[in-house]
Amino acid sequence: MKEYRNDFPILGRKIYEKYPLVYLDNAATTQKPRQVVEAMTEEYYNVNANVHRGVHFLSQQATDLMESSRETVRRFLNAGSTSEIIFTRGTTESINLVAQSFGEKFMREGDEVIISEMEHHSNIVSWQLLQARLGISLRVIPITDDGQLRLDVLEKLFTGRTRLVSVAHVSNVLGTVNPVAEVIRISHAHDVPVLVDGAQSTPHFAVDVREMDCDFFAFSGHKVYGPTGVGVLYGKERWLEQMPPYMGGGEMIKTVSFERTTFNDLPYKFEAGTPDYVATTGLARALDYVSAIGMDRIAAHERDLTQYAMQRLQTVEGMKIFGPADNRDAVVSFQVGDIHHLDMGTLLDRLGIAIRTGHHCAEPLMRRLGVEGTCRASFALYNTREEVDALVEGIERVRKMF
Ligand code: PLP
Repeated sequence: MKEYRNDFPILGRKIYEKYPLVYLDNAATTQKPRQVVEAMTEEYYNVNANVHRGVHFLSQQATDLMESSRETVRRFLNAGSTSEIIFTRGTTESINLVAQSFGEKFMREGDEVIISEMEHHSNIVSWQLLQARLGISLRVIPITDDGQLRLDVLEKLFTGRTRLVSVAHVSNVLGTVNPVAEVIRISHAHDVPVLVDGAQSTPHFAVDVREMDCDFFAFSGHKVYGPTGVGVLYGKERWLEQMPPYMGGGEMIKTVSFERTTFNDLPYKFEAGTPDYVATTGLARALDYVSAIGMDRIAAHERDLTQYAMQRLQTVEGMKIFGPADNRDAVVSFQVGDIHHLDMGTLLDRLGIAIRTGHHCAEPLMRRLGVEGTCRASFALYNTREEVDALVEGIERVRKMF
């Protein structure tokens, strides 16, 4: 995959004018290839006009670009229709949209939502806001000590009041690839729909929402080589049709009077205001980019790199790796002896190695793991075994300093 590094100018940077950048913070955000940045620049320079409501040439061209980007996303997820593809600002907004809108339509005081112990805050707090508003309650699927969902317990969490299950496809801390197809099968057997948080799966392997049969699927553009500020909510039409708008404004209406307003068709009903139509172009080019390389090739490369990293890291004295031994993806959280994760992250940074430290927006999971935070290295298609070696050598240097 090394040839693709040239598409990412930032990877050529030197950090502190000394070390070539080793960027291992891809679960937080990925770097952007030229193809994405250039497509966005081109649109600002040559096409820019507000979408959907102009009769003039540029507006129509910008609208066509945005709608073809929606088709690119549809294809990427293998959704049945572009009506089911809603552009949002990212995974967080997508989950909040479902919580507020699905919650308003389908939940009442005393109803229940099932999440898991390994969720990102966005898949916890969104439901807690609904809890405060409607009086629903949360039930939590526990995890095993090696970071796998306890499916045996999931069965027992369903009651007659369960309205939704919302789980991560891949944990941003443990790298666990959750058996979402099985979660969906069990939930559907109880007549309960499922939201899959795909923030950490879409960058790493092919996703097929129809095969998975999820009811909702959320992901962020910036984690899959696209721009910041744009993401997607996929939802089955049968749910989206019944759900009320999330925000009010332009684009989401058909007619407005002071007495009565009627709402636009899907997906526009959920896209109030001027969308980030340049970012949607960037996202589509990013999805084209990874599709041209091949999601299966990317997955194979990253799995190999993750296994290599696990093997190499285990040679470090005092190394503790969190999460499962296999069936994991592109994320390795670890702790070395009693070296504080912040010290480790700061000192590695001085060697030009960027990792993430802290609670990774998953404080309940940190509590379950019995730590305040971890060090996390996460990989993308452009990372190499040499960079893993640099990480391990860097950790050894830090360890010797302590
Ligand atoms: N869910 C998971 C599993 C994540 O890893 C993240 C980001 O780290 C999010 C949700 C939130 O994504 P965003 O901040 O792009 O909305």
